[in-house]
Amino acid sequence: MRTRPIGSLNASVVGLGCNNFGRRLDLAGTKNVLDAAIEAGVTFLDTADLYGGTDSERFMGEALKGRRDQVVIATKFGHPANTDAPKGARPEDVRAALDASLARLQTDHVDLYQLHFPDADVPIADTLGALAEAVREGKVREIGCSNFSAAQLQEAEDATAQGAPRFVSVQNEYSLLKRTAEREVLPACERLGVAFLPYFPLLSGILTGKYRRGRPLPEGTRVTGNARWEAMLTDGVLDLVEELTDFAEARGRELIDLAFAYLLAHRPVASVIAGATSPAQVRRNAQAGGWELSATEFAEVRALLDAAGVLLD
Ligand code: NAP
Repeated sequence: MRTRPIGSLNASVVGLGCNNFGRRLDLAGTKNVLDAAIEAGVTFLDTADLYGGTDSERFMGEALKGRRDQVVIATKFGHPANTDAPKGARPEDVRAALDASLARLQTDHVDLYQLHFPDADVPIADTLGALAEAVREGKVREIGCSNFSAAQLQEAEDATAQGAPRFVSVQNEYSLLKRTAEREVLPACERLGVAFLPYFPLLSGILTGKYRRGRPLPEGTRVTGNARWEAMLTDGVLDLVEELTDFAEARGRELIDLAFAYLLAHRPVASVIAGATSPAQVRRNAQAGGWELSATEFAEVRALLDAAGVLLD
């Protein structure tokens, strides 16, 4: 498994999104997926304080007992919808949320601590100050943000005190079918030397090859039966899925390989944090991280995507 830097951290290029833990998966299911991930070299784990109603972190803490040092843990605080924990970015929110996450994760430090959403009510310098204190205390290795625009990234950079910890990563939505990040945020990452972590990289499974034109929807998946996700399975999207599948298959690969390879072809992308509901999925995703697109292949995929005109915003 290749790794890429996120500040001083080394992240496996295929990461594991942990928002199924405590929601779709119980403790035993979580442990099975984490076992398979570590075995396959998928060691960058992304969670948040509110995933699974806080059970994601709790189950991870249980499942990782005795092998904390084998993984890089990224978690988040400050989601505005959080009901069980602090939901803002005030310094007191940062401190309370961090101590609660450390307790649930049964660890003395978080590797990458991310602000889940910008908080318009709190000057970013105040949040950065509290995060710097957490780094000084050894509770956090690196700090990052999520759902930030290019302007907000720049604002945070400008507000960082000389020599103080800065955001080393931004986590925003990005996939073959949702490419808004390519307009401003990825160029800002290049300019500022910030790592990019794409969320919903598989568009909740739509880019895994199991949703195909004219075939019945698979049973028991996140998309099937969920109005929001099923609404994305338009004719245009399903046509593009066929085109991308043909592109991958002509090169001896599958759509899911292309979903990872295309994102990783962008230099700032450090780890593709795909979620998984089974050990087999995580093993398959680890394998997908092995395809490095040539410059010609990359240009061809881009041309195909640009021509499709059905990209979701
Ligand atoms: P995703 O990675 O786009 O899709 C994951 C889903 O696709 C899995 O739960 C599984 O669902 C299916 N899948 C995965 N691998 C597969 C395989 N090999 N074969 C077939 N199906 C497969 O979506 P996500 O997990 O929601 O997003 C990734 C991570 O991003 C999250 O876990 C979370 O850490 C992060 N995230 C962050 C934010 C933010 O605001 N910062 C927002 C959303 C997510 P089924 O088995 O049900 O089909």
